[in-house]
Amino acid sequence: MTESTSPSSPEQIQKELLSLVKSVKGQVLNSQNLYVELDWKKPLPAQKKNKTVIKSNAGRLDDLGREVAGCKLCSLAKTRKNIVFGDGNASAKIVFVGEAPGADEDEQGLPFVGRAGQLLTNIIKAMGLERKDVYICNILKCRPPGNRNPLPDEIRLCEPYLKEQLKLISPQIICALGSFAAKTLLKTETPITTLRGRFHTYEEIKLMPTYHPAYLLRNPPAKKQVWEDIQLIMKELELPQQ
Ligand code: URA
Repeated sequence: MTESTSPSSPEQIQKELLSLVKSVKGQVLNSQNLYVELDWKKPLPAQKKNKTVIKSNAGRLDDLGREVAGCKLCSLAKTRKNIVFGDGNASAKIVFVGEAPGADEDEQGLPFVGRAGQLLTNIIKAMGLERKDVYICNILKCRPPGNRNPLPDEIRLCEPYLKEQLKLISPQIICALGSFAAKTLLKTETPITTLRGRFHTYEEIKLMPTYHPAYLLRNPPAKKQVWEDIQLIMKELELPQQ
């Protein structure tokens, strides 16, 4: 025999609905489609997303700088005061590459901050730029004692850092300051006097070799040729010629 149910009154329907609402209140579907009790006072935890963090040039360059900071690949690690990794704009259109840190750079951990550095800063200003617009680094990241020339083994061990820096910055132009920078980057024994004055190519990047600012301090008439080289760079970068 089937049980007969009498039609519910509006009051009864309201009561039934109320108890139904009470029973489901406090339950939500979780990410696995299961009902879970919910504490109404606490906000729902934010769903963790699988975020891929894409680092900027600057971030990746900072990471590389931290890696280089502990370098002990050659004996210069024993005599250096500070590593001189590089300085400036990680998205610069032009990178200046010198030879190796001197005493002032070793002291401060920054490239081209001594007398030759002041001259380089003036060259950059004459281009209508500031140091913060460009990137400056060296072939060697540590000072050779007594400012002696870099040794072939020191260049070989340090060069991968420079390569990575240049890859990350990916400038439009590299300006190689002096013989060591030009010869190391271009893998040539051709003297700087022959190399300067025209663009060469380094890993598909235009490279202008010019005289080192320290040479200009000893030989001021060579400033004229450096200015000619810099003007070719300015033309390439579409900088207004003063
Ligand atoms: N000479 C260089 O080649 N690099 C410096 O950082 C300073 C002087």
